[in-house]
Amino acid sequence: MKITTVECIPFTLPMRATLHFAAGTMADSRHVLLRVRTDEGITGTAEAISRPMFYGESQQSIVSAVNDWFGPALAGLDPFNTEEAWSRFDRVDGNHTAKGALDLAMHDIQGQALGVPACRLLGGYGTSAAVTYVCGLGGAEEVADEAERIGAAHGIGSFKLKVGMDPARDIAMTHAVRTRLPGATLYLDGNQGYRGHVARRVLDAAADLGVAWVEEPCAVSDRWGRRFVAARSPIPLLGDESCRTLAEVAREIGERTIHMVSIKVARTGYRVSGRIVGACLAAGVRPMTGSQGESGVGTLASLHFCVAHESLAGLPGELSFFLNLGDDLLAEPLRIVDGRLQVNERPGLGIEIEEAKLATLRLDR
Ligand code: MG
Repeated sequence: MKITTVECIPFTLPMRATLHFAAGTMADSRHVLLRVRTDEGITGTAEAISRPMFYGESQQSIVSAVNDWFGPALAGLDPFNTEEAWSRFDRVDGNHTAKGALDLAMHDIQGQALGVPACRLLGGYGTSAAVTYVCGLGGAEEVADEAERIGAAHGIGSFKLKVGMDPARDIAMTHAVRTRLPGATLYLDGNQGYRGHVARRVLDAAADLGVAWVEEPCAVSDRWGRRFVAARSPIPLLGDESCRTLAEVAREIGERTIHMVSIKVARTGYRVSGRIVGACLAAGVRPMTGSQGESGVGTLASLHFCVAHESLAGLPGELSFFLNLGDDLLAEPLRIVDGRLQVNERPGLGIEIEEAKLATLRLDR
């Protein structure tokens, strides 16, 4: 089997409400659907997610990168040869989510060719995962209301709270959520918003409120601040923006700035994500499943990877961003039951696109 062509379809989904976090604001969610076709009639599907504040990629740049570089680089390649695919991808710098999505689509082809769900190709550990809901920045009672409402509606017991703008407000908000949900797993994401000494204060308060860990309190570029904070933190620190590639993960582990790593298959596909999980386990660093703001399409890809690995399936995964979206492309919408998502039994990623919906949401026609 050989890859023939790659089709790029940019689409934008409405948000139920504008989302605010320390690194930016999202009024809508911008994606590119990738279809990798083969000479045997199997098509692999994945989405690349435009998040310029983290990766510098736009929908247009993803389409250009795939049409000009990565699509032609895959032409004629065996879709099982992701090793060669990444070798070719990495002749071009950056473009994290374009590369990641093509890797995911290749695995979708592999699963379909073999007749097995992707999670069984990747480790086969389980079939379902507990999910975390990510609350945007907001007033203390407003965020507590949102967490309580979402928790009750979907049985979710794990929440990530966006912080990093104002330490006093962040601590008050965390306190409000903790008061409302005394038994919930809570963690914070600073999106690099604090200076080192400010982060220390927030971490101490967070520990007192039973926060499980804090994600990226300090800027990736603040090397001194990161080491200072990590050496004194009473709770684990989770690397996200600092861990976009295997080499960046190795740097953060080597400099002892993190205790956990957010695995996002949207940026490292399955092949590089697997290497990152291995690097974490070797160093005693805990991997967990992060969110790049996936639609249902990307959530399925992330879910397969999460349930396949014992280390990831043991922590709630950020698999509920689609609840923030006003629309989706999946023919069969995802449903969180008792706080968990279950993989379907279809081969590959099990993505079935509702073509009529795609026709209305695509931006290229
Ligand atoms: Mg983050």
